[in-house]
Formats: sequence, C-alpha cells, structure tokens
Amino acid sequence: VEVRDLGEFGLIDRLQKALGRPPGDRLVVGIGDDAAVWRSGDGFTIATTDTMVEGVHFLPGKVAWKDVGWKALAANISDVAAMGGTPAFALVTLCLPPDTPVEHVDAMYAGLAECAETYGITVAGGDIVSAREITVTVALTGDAIVGPDRKPHLLRRSAARVGDDVAVTGPLGASAGGLRVLKEGLAAQHPSLVESHARPWPRVDAGTIGVRAGITCGMDISDGLAQDLGHICRASSVRAELYLDRIPIDNNLTLAYPADAASMAAAGGEDYELILTGDAATLAAVDQALRRHLDLDFPQLHTVGRITTGHVGVVILDATGAEVDLTSRGWDHLRPGSHS
Ligand SMILES: [Mg+2]
Repeated sequence: VEVRDLGEFGLIDRLQKALGRPPGDRLVVGIGDDAAVWRSGDGFTIATTDTMVEGVHFLPGKVAWKDVGWKALAANISDVAAMGGTPAFALVTLCLPPDTPVEHVDAMYAGLAECAETYGITVAGGDIVSAREITVTVALTGDAIVGPDRKPHLLRRSAARVGDDVAVTGPLGASAGGLRVLKEGLAAQHPSLVESHARPWPRVDAGTIGVRAGITCGMDISDGLAQDLGHICRASSVRAELYLDRIPIDNNLTLAYPADAASMAAAGGEDYELILTGDAATLAAVDQALRRHLDLDFPQLHTVGRITTGHVGVVILDATGAEVDLTSRGWDHLRPGSHS
C-alpha cells in the first residue's frame, strides 16, 4: 500500500491512531480542526503548520518569490483566523537546493516579512535544510479569545447545528481563476486574478468579530467551499444545502470565465475567506460589525446555504432546487489527478 492509496484524509486517520490518546488535559483541540489549541498559563495557544513545495503549491517562474513568501505565511494565518484567533509567532523552515540564487530567498523573505508586519506576527526562528527542491514550511501560533468564563471562545468545525445558516465572508473563485490564467498563459490579461491567487488576505478580522458576536462554528476556505463545508458536515454530523446561485463570485472571475465562474466559486481552492454557520440574527450582527470595522456599507457576509437534518454531507442545489453534481471536489493532496 502506498500513501497515495490512502489519500490525505485516510493518512491523517492512520497517523492519529498511531499517536494514541494525548496525555494530560492541556490540549483543548487536537487533530481534525483548522488548528490545534492548548492551554498556556491563563491563555490558550492556537498552533498550525503548512508547507509549500515548489512545483506542487507554486509554479516556479510563474509566481514572484515575494508572493511565495507572503502566501506561505498567509495560509497559516488563515488557519488561526479559522479558529477565531489572532496570529502571534512564526517559525520558518526552508528546504533549499544549494544552487538556489540568494536573490530568490531575499525576495521570498521580503514578502514573508511584509505579511508578518501586516498581521502583527513575529518570526521567531526556524531551520534551513539542504534539499532537492524548494520547500517553505511555516509553523504559526496565535492567541484564542478568552471569555469572561475563562474558557477559549473558538470557531470549531464540529459546532454546526440544524437550522443554522451558512455564510461566507467574501466573493469566491478568484484564486482558482488566478491559477487557471497562470496555467493558460493569460496572466498578463488578468493581473487581479493572479494577485488573488498569489497574495491572499486571510480573514482574522472576520474570525475574531464572529467569535465576539457569538459564532461558534467556522473554518477557512482552503480546499474549496463545497469541500470545506463537507468537513464541517462530517465534524458536526449534519447535512448542508449549498445554494449555487447565492455563492458570491469574484467579478474578475466572472469576466474571465463566465461559463465556469459559478462552479469555480463553489469548488475552487485557496480563497482563504471564512465559512461561518449560525442563526440568522447572529450572522446579521457579524455582518454589521464587519461593515463598521471595515467602514464599508455593503454586505460583508453572504448566506450561501443552510444546515439541515439528513445524510451527512453537502448537497449543492441550483436556483430551481435541483441537485448539482460538481465534478471538481477540491484538493486532496496525495491523490493522483489533484490540482497542483
Ligand atoms: Mg483550514
């Protein structure tokens, strides 16, 4: 048996079994959410790690090195945002072929430093290793919001309840559109899509505002809305209806790929917006708070679905209520034929 036969999620299950039950009682959230959470003194630390590999997660020669650095940190920030926390400290491990031009590393770190400064993160250390291809691994900690009850108030994948609305924090599909124009050699015609793909802006604002408003269920959109909502369904043992015609689509994506824009918004990865579920009134309060925070007077949360009873999983419905089968199922990193 090879790891590709198990797939990413099968392998995670297997490794979790190998580790057994965590000892002690400091761990609050273990394997299976966007990030881990443990008690640290009077507070709670959120921790996550993510790797970008040349040729797998970024196309060498097609994406600027400064953007590789930005995105390596941003992907981790998004997982802290997905728990409702604020990022704090990062460790960066670089695997580099010895003949890597130093100017590439300089540019990567300029982008990484810019992202760190933007989000108030301190890079506190790391490791450098010689390897055959360029790999950037970031480990990031963050701080959870602690309530008056002295407990961590988090966004959990397992907290969706029947009757909840499902909302997303912004238009989707631009990152998938950016990847597509890069692959099709159309980057020069669609710079904003490339920018969305190369330089995502994780939603720490929406995560913390959501938690403070009382939202308890959420995750970030890294694999694609349909796929990631499926993770919420499995963790919460619920069914979700996703309304295809209500998914907000990035304007530039609609212009570039009008026929495919809706399905790319539903299934395309790496937008790094958040999915939040909750009752309609609480979600409306989050929308209002986000408008005030950003000083923008148009919708900041978009209701795209509902949590219902029934078979665990996501059902995608079109405007007539007919079920839609999206062939693209998002990213399953170790299976053949997955996105690159
Ligand atoms: Mg995530």
